Amino acid sequence: MLQTILVTGGAGYIGSHAVLALQRAGYQVVVLDNLSNGHRELVEKLEVDLIVGDISDRPLLDHLFTTHKIAAVMHFAAYIAVGESVADPAKYYRNNVNGTLTLLEAMVAAGIQQFVFSSTCALYGVPKIVPIPEDHPQDPISPYATTKWMVERILADFDTAYDLKAVRFRYFNAAGADPTGLLGEDHLPETHLIPLVLLAALDPQKSISILGTDYPTPDGTCIRDYIHVADLAEAHVLGLQYLLNGGDSTVFNLGNGTGFSVRQVIETARQITDREIKVVESDRRAGDPPILVGSSDKARKVLGWQPQYPNLEEILAHAWQWHQQRHRRP
Ligand code: UDP
Repeated sequence: MLQTILVTGGAGYIGSHAVLALQRAGYQVVVLDNLSNGHRELVEKLEVDLIVGDISDRPLLDHLFTTHKIAAVMHFAAYIAVGESVADPAKYYRNNVNGTLTLLEAMVAAGIQQFVFSSTCALYGVPKIVPIPEDHPQDPISPYATTKWMVERILADFDTAYDLKAVRFRYFNAAGADPTGLLGEDHLPETHLIPLVLLAALDPQKSISILGTDYPTPDGTCIRDYIHVADLAEAHVLGLQYLLNGGDSTVFNLGNGTGFSVRQVIETARQITDREIKVVESDRRAGDPPILVGSSDKARKVLGWQPQYPNLEEILAHAWQWHQQRHRRP
């Protein structure tokens, strides 16, 4: 019989790609999403059961876990905008921490003991060593990153007390889109570099603002480690299988280990799109470390993870295909 995995936030960007990867690996999927930022159409395309609801709704969770035989939970449902988390931390602590706690308590009550958690490299703060290893000191500098850090701590305690096993994935910069064109990135408002650069390529009225040109990097702009969303999704399937095979709780970075500056991303996007992309040089954005590049050796070694699309060109080409499609829609 197929095992059923509950994917919270499965109507979102990374969650929907994880649903697709799970289906391809032979799992049955149920999505729980309150559609505050997710897209019903993504779930419909994937033809999986969608339960519209909130992770903080305990009666709903109890009902869900009684009516579905859930083998494990993959948890993506979270607010993700760093700037918004500074302006409205209560929203972030309530959803990302309280909501997750409710979900975990419901899992424990239902006897579900495997959990795959979507965490972030943002909890390392400003890195002292690059590429960043998993045992790098943690010093989150935004409420968003603090919520992920807090859940990681809760998971350690839940393992000790309730034997709940968790794989935590700390992502670097998720980017790209499903290579077949089925899924892609669609945040509202969009704050991420790659979609904003491609939207500027699509619309001559638009430009991309470089947020800081005086960083201590070779070209003065921030350097990030961009990782294809399909490779992230694949890692989640491997993490799930690791847990279902009896693996112990652990944490993995997920990145390519190669950094690209904002200017390099824009230049590569010009080549991929063959369009002009207007640039405006602006001030720094609060909370942006100059360089974030991760070491993902552990995920390669322990999970056998091997990114299929490690090149920035491919990441941009898949994202461009997605954005062009969306632009053509009426
Ligand atoms: N960035 C930029 N212009 C934008 C958005 C982002 O220059 O309009 C920069 C940002 O300062 C960071 C990098 O691009 O150095 C990646 O930012 P993004 O928001 O995509 O991801 P983050 O690193 O914040 O997770």
